Amino acid sequence: MVFGMFGKKEEEEEELEPVSFLGPVNGQDVNMKANGRLVEAGLMRAKDLVTDALARRSDTIRLEPRGPQAVITISVDGIPYPGGKLGKAEGLAITQMLKLLAGLDIKERKKAQSGGIKAEFETKPYTLGIKIVPVAEGERLIVRVTDAKLKLDLPPDVGMGEPMRLKLRDLCTSPGVLLVAGPGGSGTTTTLFAVLRNIDAYMNTIYTLADFEGRKVPQVTRMEDAEPEDLAGTIAKAARREANVILCEPVKTDTAAKAMFSRHESILMMAEIPAKDTASAVLQLIEWVGDPKLVAEGLKGIVTQKLIRVLCNDCRMAYKPKSDFLRKLGLPDDIAALYRKPPDAAEGNQDQCESCGSVGFFGRTGMFELLEMTEGMQAVIAGKPDANAIRSQMKKDKMITLQQDGLRLVAEGKTSLEELQRVFKPA
Ligand SMILES: [Zn+2]
Repeated sequence: MVFGMFGKKEEEEEELEPVSFLGPVNGQDVNMKANGRLVEAGLMRAKDLVTDALARRSDTIRLEPRGPQAVITISVDGIPYPGGKLGKAEGLAITQMLKLLAGLDIKERKKAQSGGIKAEFETKPYTLGIKIVPVAEGERLIVRVTDAKLKLDLPPDVGMGEPMRLKLRDLCTSPGVLLVAGPGGSGTTTTLFAVLRNIDAYMNTIYTLADFEGRKVPQVTRMEDAEPEDLAGTIAKAARREANVILCEPVKTDTAAKAMFSRHESILMMAEIPAKDTASAVLQLIEWVGDPKLVAEGLKGIVTQKLIRVLCNDCRMAYKPKSDFLRKLGLPDDIAALYRKPPDAAEGNQDQCESCGSVGFFGRTGMFELLEMTEGMQAVIAGKPDANAIRSQMKKDKMITLQQDGLRLVAEGKTSLEELQRVFKPA
């Protein structure tokens, strides 16, 4: 047992059937025989680590050498918890083992590498994204867990409200640039994927230059020969093959932004853009493209998202809010009940919830805001705006903001006001 994060005693733990590793996502052969010593040192340890993490619904496992030790952090619903420590040699064996299982080069210890492992745990299929990052004391291992069966494919499943879903579907029917913005790790890939699934793949010719970590979309062709250094060339190639929708890698450079906007008149160009909010995404685009008028003309919309934890259905507690309090929040004042998580054990709560391990939350959902290109917004953007000008135009155009969408989730009893405050607290 590596972690004891939910305070369960060891004798209460049931013996779990360990995770099975079913081979690399990249289809490479893994030669276990030729690496007998590594397998002996690392396989069971790697299984223990991943099994414990999966049993706790972890989304990310990190393992990093620090002095004589290897430090484990596991995240559940995006909240990191300390996961204990191992000896440096054990940590190294696990890292090398997972590299081997992902079909990566175990002799390479100085370069970043990434891949994935197909896995099964408690009869459910998972994909384990493996990322190796060189650090001062060796290599950092990051395992990203994806539930391979989880249907996070369509907008209602990522938590998107109906009005926004319909607007997005509408935006996807004509050429232009459509972006999904959010901070790193906020699930923008899942949302982009969801928006993509909303496009009629039989009526359109869709090419993707981005890798979705093993997730496949029917009727979408991957441009395998995509040259990251020549995005414009790759886009031109897709255009010659009559693409009318192209999904690009996340926009991170002026070259990428310019390449996307150069085709806005004929192709629906979609991508993620790392940004803390919608206004920052617009300002970043203007800077990269270098022409505010072109951005105003080519941009169709930006979906910005933030993740929020969902209250556990089995232990959430109802309370009756005062109606003037509801009015102040801009919520209908006839809501019968709002919900919050039960008090912690430290505050005298003796009840343990088995469903969520007494965390009070189970899983996450998205809050969304959508900047649509209205005539007013076009004029604001073409005039080289600052963040405030963009925000006040969004208000004027009555676009749904992240805060409003979060309050929708509070009103629906999916999350609490306290959680909403937590995610909007400046970091
Ligand atoms: Zn619970």
